[in-house]
Amino acid sequence: MAAHVSYADFHRRSIAERDAFWTEQAALIEWQRPFDRVCNYERPPFARWFEGGLTNLCHNAVDRHLKDRAEQNALIFVSTETHTETAYTYRELHQEVQRFAAIYRALGVSKGDRVLIYMPMIPEAAFAMLAAVRIGAIHSVVFGGFASHSLASRIDDAQPKVIVSADAGMRGGKVVPYKHLLDEAIRLSKHQPQRVVMVNRGLADLAPVAGRDVDYASLRAQHLDAQVPCEWVDSTHPSYILYTSGTTGRPKGVQRDTGGYAVALAASMRHIYMAQPGETYFSTSDIGWVVGHSYIIYGPLINGMATIMYEGLPIRPDAGIWWSLVEKYRVSVMFTAPTAARVLKKQDPAYLTRYDLSSLKALFLAGEPLDEPTATWMSQAIGKPVIDNYWQTETGWPILAICNGVEPAPTKFGSPGKAVYGYDVRLIDELSGQEITEANRKGVIAVEGPLPPGCLQTVWGDDDRYVKTYWSSIPGRQMYSTFDWGVRDEDGYFYILGRTDDVINVAGHRLGTREIEESISSHPAVAEVAVVGVADTLKGQVAMAFAVLKDASRAATPEAAQALEGEILKVVDEQLGAVARPARVRFVSLLPKTRSGKLLRRAIQAVCEGRDPGDLTTMEDPAALQQIKDLVAS
Ligand code: ATP
Ligand code: MG
Repeated sequence: MAAHVSYADFHRRSIAERDAFWTEQAALIEWQRPFDRVCNYERPPFARWFEGGLTNLCHNAVDRHLKDRAEQNALIFVSTETHTETAYTYRELHQEVQRFAAIYRALGVSKGDRVLIYMPMIPEAAFAMLAAVRIGAIHSVVFGGFASHSLASRIDDAQPKVIVSADAGMRGGKVVPYKHLLDEAIRLSKHQPQRVVMVNRGLADLAPVAGRDVDYASLRAQHLDAQVPCEWVDSTHPSYILYTSGTTGRPKGVQRDTGGYAVALAASMRHIYMAQPGETYFSTSDIGWVVGHSYIIYGPLINGMATIMYEGLPIRPDAGIWWSLVEKYRVSVMFTAPTAARVLKKQDPAYLTRYDLSSLKALFLAGEPLDEPTATWMSQAIGKPVIDNYWQTETGWPILAICNGVEPAPTKFGSPGKAVYGYDVRLIDELSGQEITEANRKGVIAVEGPLPPGCLQTVWGDDDRYVKTYWSSIPGRQMYSTFDWGVRDEDGYFYILGRTDDVINVAGHRLGTREIEESISSHPAVAEVAVVGVADTLKGQVAMAFAVLKDASRAATPEAAQALEGEILKVVDEQLGAVARPARVRFVSLLPKTRSGKLLRRAIQAVCEGRDPGDLTTMEDPAALQQIKDLVAS
């Protein structure tokens, strides 16, 4: 690739000379047989990338590195819950994955079969994922800790032949038993798995079900010398199913391909994350989420890096734990979520600077809006660039980012950056379907098809839902909608203003929840806030705010709460104008969130309007919503 390409040219070429561009990127992975067509878009919106090519995700993540880096660390497992620290070299990882693949084979799993993985953050979860794609099986990782109901609906949707699980996870020093949840989920589901492989961590009761449950350790012992070659699959062969967070409703089963995904991840490691082979990548996510799939497991391994898998909290034993790992393993790239950064923000910043962070190039965050106070605090605390990027379970890798690996560019706080190469991002007026080309006008963020490699192929088992959900909401044209609302500035930087569902319409003025939240959180007393639009007979809708205070005693008496509410409303008035002023700012001790840390605004809104909050199976702590119910009723 030519040196000194400007990012604008790089992006332009990725769209205008799509096939040539992606052919170059495709050379970053290994193909058993080359593809003969870069992109088949004959049946829009279904895109088929690298047709005719044969490859394997596990080969690219593991086997291909054996010749150059067999003795280099591949997977570093750290648990501050069980006080375990283990590293696997590429050679050792290769062996463990083959053992697991042999177990699958022995249990009758073959190409195209689904394997559901309901696991805590332990190395066996990574082996189970890699071994599945090794033999062409399709994995579906379900976040460990989901209750039986959520698990059951995913079992019925993915219909796995085998389920892999463990006796328990751990969180904050407490054992979280899984087995009874799993048994109950299987009881609730119509589909029945043939076998359940149980990893016994010795933490909780296993109560094996005769004829169904098998013990991982004994099976592994039978396959110590297993040699299971990679099954070469078509580039378009599904590698996994992963469900969205369920923030806006019933989760959607995202189906991912093989070749396109591998290429997209390999390219993103260079162009976005500036990550080099041989370095160490540390993503603090969970394998149950898309960030865990793309940037704990596949991305770093495809790129020949060591990846850290962490079980534990960010502040246990103290807020220095992550940063001590950066020092110890010379982490070069780190990835976390704004919600974790906000947890750290409540701690003494001295914890973050106690360690040698000289190996670290940048800290990336994604998943939720990164508010300016948190971003500023974080970058000052660690003295490193803090870089936002925006994407979705559906896309598998960023849509909006700063591609520093192509051409270094400044970050702007509050913005995840510009359209990423491969994405023909458009801003659309969702009422008229017209494209917005001028700066600073709000619209829905959409992508002109085809979506680039790595994005969802379809909704698992439901092509119709794929087309109806994602490609049918923009009037007059078939475009992919992100269902996020935003603006673009003169320099092409986007700002996410909230989800399209959450746009508030006050007396004809359209406002993003994010704009109001950002304004409220600039008040120094506020730690976190959620804003929703609530039906109002006079104005159509009014904004309602629920805030968590840094120090709850500031609203200890009704008078104090009222005074603080007044101060906060004044801030909104000054920054956004009276039209954006919430009807009320109420104080709560916690906000309802999904287990992946996203605010459940639709549930808050429903409660405020006296409606049924709908599907709450992905909610973290029901007490948060109850608090709001009580406030609204009072
Ligand atoms: P569901 O689609 O089931 O309702 P979800 O949209 O929360 O759930 P995810 O795919 O986990 O599921 O989250 C993607 C969404 O998260 C984006 O559409 C966007 O709303 C939000 N998001 C992700 N990254 C950012 C970011 N950097 N800034 C602002 N918002 C972000
Ligand atoms: Mg979504």
